[in-house]
Amino acid sequence: LARLYAPITALSNVHVEIMTALVSFDRVFEVLDLKPMIEDKPDARDLPEGPLSVEFDGVSFRYPTADESSLASLELTLQAESTAETQVLSDVSFTAAPGQLVALVGPSGAGKTTMTHLVSRLYDPLQGAVRIGGTDLRDATSRSVRDAVGVVTQDPQLFHDTVANNLRYARPGAGDDELAEAMRAAQLGDLLADLPDGLDTMVGDRGYRLSGGEKQRLAIARLLLKEPSVVVLDEATAHLDSESEAAVQEALRTALAGRTSLVIAHRLATVREADQILVLEDGRILERGTHEELLRGGGLYTALYRTQFAAQEKESRGAATSRA
Ligand code: ADP
Ligand code: MG
Repeated sequence: LARLYAPITALSNVHVEIMTALVSFDRVFEVLDLKPMIEDKPDARDLPEGPLSVEFDGVSFRYPTADESSLASLELTLQAESTAETQVLSDVSFTAAPGQLVALVGPSGAGKTTMTHLVSRLYDPLQGAVRIGGTDLRDATSRSVRDAVGVVTQDPQLFHDTVANNLRYARPGAGDDELAEAMRAAQLGDLLADLPDGLDTMVGDRGYRLSGGEKQRLAIARLLLKEPSVVVLDEATAHLDSESEAAVQEALRTALAGRTSLVIAHRLATVREADQILVLEDGRILERGTHEELLRGGGLYTALYRTQFAAQEKESRGAATSRA
């Protein structure tokens, strides 16, 4: 019977393979953090190495419409007619000093993810400038931007490939020992020990099943291998179990240490630690400051804190009590 089924399975596998290939192609750029959409200027220069500042200077932005992308020459005319409705960011300015952690909070649709798109230069701003290490990203080589900025999204994608190859995207040529080291630093030492074929274990859709927390930590291991100057992190909203949560937190602490970080923060722990919190609404920075400063202000942050973060505080207190 198995023999009869084999050809059918083989055929349906082809289909799956094609689907995977289509999905993966799109995802490659997600993993590499940047779409090769924008061409380098002839005199583009590399971003400097080391801890770098991130600066938004009067940034306004809206997403190009399909028409505009194909009719680039008309863009200037159309920009002039841009309406308030389509404006996604309006006059956003802030500076993250080298090594600082900046948390972005605000309601859904406020423009948080869009800000991260501009930092990794998926798009250029309509007005104003985004600078890393003092260099306007429009004057930087896309290669150096890709190397400087490491992105971890909410839903990290794995290729249907070995653990080793999934990690090596971040640092081609890394030895197995370096990969294992990054996994341990990302709190995946136990997983590495459990994997049936170690680093050669297949993961992804049809491979060894990883939990949500393990996938996130694998993405963090990638980040550690990549060693970017700037980290952009979209924290998961999905509730990880508390053990994964603690492990992810610990892994992130290692990954963010000494790096300029822009974090879309859903966890109170991250928000509290931030050097600067930017509170966004409708594409504008409404409030900014530290946790304590903003709570004293009694504005949108206080409202968000009551609805979103206070519950977490209770939860973590409860957990601390029950553990004690
Ligand atoms: P947040 O991350 O704060 O929830 P986003 O930056 O994702 O907000 O979205 C801000 C606004 O931009 C929303 O109105 C959203 O619908 C719009 N938007 C987001 N991504 C795109 C896109 N790729 N094309 C067009 N509009 C988009
Ligand atoms: Mg978002």
